[in-house]
Amino acid sequence: MLRVRRALPLAAASVYSAKLEERRGSTFRHGAMRKRIAFACLVGLTLPLLAAAITVTTPAGPKEVFARGDLLDVVALLRFAGADVQFAPAAGSYGAVTPEHQIQFTPGGALAVVDGRLTPLPGPLRLVDGHIVAAQPTVIALLAPLGWTMKGGAGAPELIRAGAGEQIEVSVVRAPTGTTLVMRGTKQRPRVVASQGSVALQFATPVTLLRPVMPESELLGAELRNTTLTLRLASGIEVTGTYPLDDPPRFVVRLGTATPVAPVAVPRTGPLVVLDPGHGGEDQGAKGPGSELEKDITMAVGRATAAHLQAAGVTARLTRDGDEAVSLTDRTALANRLQAAVFVSIHANASLARGAHGAETYYMRADASDPQAAQAAARENASAPPDTVQLILWDLAHVANLNNSARLARTVQEKLNALQGIKDRGIRQAPFVVLTGATMPSALVEVGFLSNAEEAARLAAHDVQDQIATALAEAIIDFLRAPAPEAAPTQAVPPTP
Ligand SMILES: [Zn+2]
Repeated sequence: MLRVRRALPLAAASVYSAKLEERRGSTFRHGAMRKRIAFACLVGLTLPLLAAAITVTTPAGPKEVFARGDLLDVVALLRFAGADVQFAPAAGSYGAVTPEHQIQFTPGGALAVVDGRLTPLPGPLRLVDGHIVAAQPTVIALLAPLGWTMKGGAGAPELIRAGAGEQIEVSVVRAPTGTTLVMRGTKQRPRVVASQGSVALQFATPVTLLRPVMPESELLGAELRNTTLTLRLASGIEVTGTYPLDDPPRFVVRLGTATPVAPVAVPRTGPLVVLDPGHGGEDQGAKGPGSELEKDITMAVGRATAAHLQAAGVTARLTRDGDEAVSLTDRTALANRLQAAVFVSIHANASLARGAHGAETYYMRADASDPQAAQAAARENASAPPDTVQLILWDLAHVANLNNSARLARTVQEKLNALQGIKDRGIRQAPFVVLTGATMPSALVEVGFLSNAEEAARLAAHDVQDQIATALAEAIIDFLRAPAPEAAPTQAVPPTP
């Protein structure tokens, strides 16, 4: 009896994972499926010896919870915290619902949707013996929106109600313009009381910190007592601005030096441009019907653009100068290290719509401007899924570059539009990982569609590649020549026409 009951969830889990594969579009074979269930049942019969449960202390008394090593049954714990947890086959995800909150999560993922907001989890959710399990930090992250938490570690876990009030999470973002503290999870606008060496944020109702605030050079520490969060600041540092943000609700505190000092002059003969030929090595990027590879086209266009810039007296560097794999973060890291004035990532597009053609230029925003832009970003981000929190923080930290990035993208697109036979697909915005780390004006250009046979053949031609390179070099030079508009420090302003 017990054995049969043990075996069932595993078989169900196997059906579930097969369903997931089916949804992903991979081949779904009945034979393999039947074999998998048979195997699952076989394993299920032998597993009771390995299966383990742990006793969790809850306000309603001790409860047995499925556990495997450090991994605990997420669904059981959410239920003990008062949530109604159901599996939604159509969505392939679980939903935990209370009268106030809704959390969706999917086994295999490290993301949850909390009250409609995409939230990264500290670790993945796994499916073990038909139970959704996760390590304690991930369990705590899922319990937090419901006002519950866990303590006592793996030895004597205890499920408890979290402290009353909002749970806030403080992120510290370092940027050349100063340090920014982003407080997520509060809709309050605390009273800001500054004194020598510290600043007190007085909230109207109690708050708790989801995790300790990490000190860094300008912020020495933070202490929370009841409704007051006191930030200890380094000598000469003060609060230069505070403002709330919506969707998700956040409260932002900007720190800076008491008296603005002139930026340190970097000795350089002229501006330096970093060009980023997309993809490389195993990562081929998009592929045309005539076997044209995106990584080859971006390399050729990148090299030719660098040559045109050098000929015009502008120093240009490439993030790769051969068929090699370079991580997305290393690409902007090079531009940051060289203190480049401009970063342009070069790509070629692909679309399921075979007729799609033309060039489009992107600049970085956390929110895509349209569904196609979101798809382009998803495709280009394939080798490194974006950390949504990083994206949101990037948006805040580098908002000062937004006007200039928009101007760079516009200049590039205008020059490409002037080329014969290239359709203008306009300027768009999307969260490209390769642009997230850039601390200078940056843009990503999709020079054309490899999925379009005619355009793929054109993009593979040397004379066309050189025309595109000339246009890109001219655009970058025009951008560098024009006086930079005043950057908006705290608020995104639409680009000037
Ligand atoms: Zn690409």
